[in-house]
Amino acid sequence: MDFSERIGERFKLMNRDEIRAWQSERLAITVKQAAKSPWYKAKFAEMGLNPEDIKSCDDIKKLPLTTKEDLRLSYPDKMLAVDKSEIVRLHTSSGTTGKPTAIFHTAQDIQNWAELMARSINLSGATDKDVLQNMSGYGMFTGGLGIHFGGERLGMMMIPAGPGNTPRHLMLIRDFGVTAIHATPSYAMHVADEMISNGEDPKALGLKYAFLGAEPYTEAMRLRLQELYGFKVYNSYGLSEMNGPGVAMECTYQNGMHIWEDSYIVEVINPETLEDVPEGEIGELVLTPIRRMGMPIIRYRTRDLTRIIPGKCECGLEHRRLARFVGRSDDMLIVRGVNIFPSRIEQVLMAEEWLGGNYVLHLTREDGKMDVMTIRVELAKDAMSGSVDVLKNRKAELGRKIKDAAGFTAIIELVEPGSLPVSMGKAKRVIDERDIF
Ligand code: ADP
Ligand code: ZN
Repeated sequence: MDFSERIGERFKLMNRDEIRAWQSERLAITVKQAAKSPWYKAKFAEMGLNPEDIKSCDDIKKLPLTTKEDLRLSYPDKMLAVDKSEIVRLHTSSGTTGKPTAIFHTAQDIQNWAELMARSINLSGATDKDVLQNMSGYGMFTGGLGIHFGGERLGMMMIPAGPGNTPRHLMLIRDFGVTAIHATPSYAMHVADEMISNGEDPKALGLKYAFLGAEPYTEAMRLRLQELYGFKVYNSYGLSEMNGPGVAMECTYQNGMHIWEDSYIVEVINPETLEDVPEGEIGELVLTPIRRMGMPIIRYRTRDLTRIIPGKCECGLEHRRLARFVGRSDDMLIVRGVNIFPSRIEQVLMAEEWLGGNYVLHLTREDGKMDVMTIRVELAKDAMSGSVDVLKNRKAELGRKIKDAAGFTAIIELVEPGSLPVSMGKAKRVIDERDIF
């Protein structure tokens, strides 16, 4: 297989007209395929929808939305649209917000996913000459095998290191000429913090590319990581229900993630009214995979909040770009009547050089009435050696910045470097104990 085939070049280079024509063709096929599954067969019948009536993208609003709850109800296999003998792999989601969902793939589905992933990795400029160490969990989590097959498809040497064990990660990176890593941003930050605590410089690792995703993070976090390691951070988005990583990835302009519209039809809706929001406005991302045949999912409500960046990217690709995710709709906190995403706080913390990279937001309710947010954040290693007065002033100043950003006063607790829990996968940033009272 030549390079252009490995990365699906003909799909990558499609212009808007080609994308649209292809999407129409594929949507019609996908809907007919979905109708073979018990779930959609029943759903279409109940709505009086004839799959033959879906002829182009213009018909998409005739189709039902599918929620995470639907996936849970259809568990384990009511959305399966082929005979089980055609299935070669099962994945489940991480289960961050409840029972995991199960996704089946045919051999062709796996091929297509690997192609998307190879294309995504290559957007950064990384090639078959690069060595990619995957720090994601191998197993049901799609960040393991998903990235792995993509890297191999590109022809890279893959190191399936898996999560945890920082000293081993560092040894592999140094001994085998690793140039790229895939990890969660929180884990990449942890590795840097640990190196710095040991008097080591992450820059000396010589890494060039970091594909970071699986959890929301801010631009401030990206900048900090780039500065610490000297590599470029590419935001990477995916979810198990849509295969996994390889749904959207940043190019070298690092200005939003190109979502592969040859494989996913994109809608951004208002989660209340379910109507499209105007292009460029934030809403819930709804995706329809149009190249997956084993288990098609129609108009999947991801619960992830983002917006389409209007206009064409300087790199010339015509697949549109998604802006950095604000978070999931479920992540939004209501603190003293104020709606806030944890990322708003992170943005403030990560801009402070004297703070480390790990933090936790702890919510409690005072006397059953008042919400209290305690921000526990690690100090940077050097910050410990300064005078107590300097630290006190910095803390007071930080309190004011948080108040400006959040709209309420939070308690700030500065803790020693390395003292907060580290997650091997997705970071758990919020501990909400308000329901106990
Ligand atoms: P779960 O939904 O149980 O966590 P997954 O492992 O499939 O299972 O995770 C997919 C989710 O991870 C996405 O729906 C999204 O909320 C989050 N995610 C993935 N990549 C990013 C990213 N680059 N930025 C923000 N959130 C992300
Ligand atoms: Zn681009």
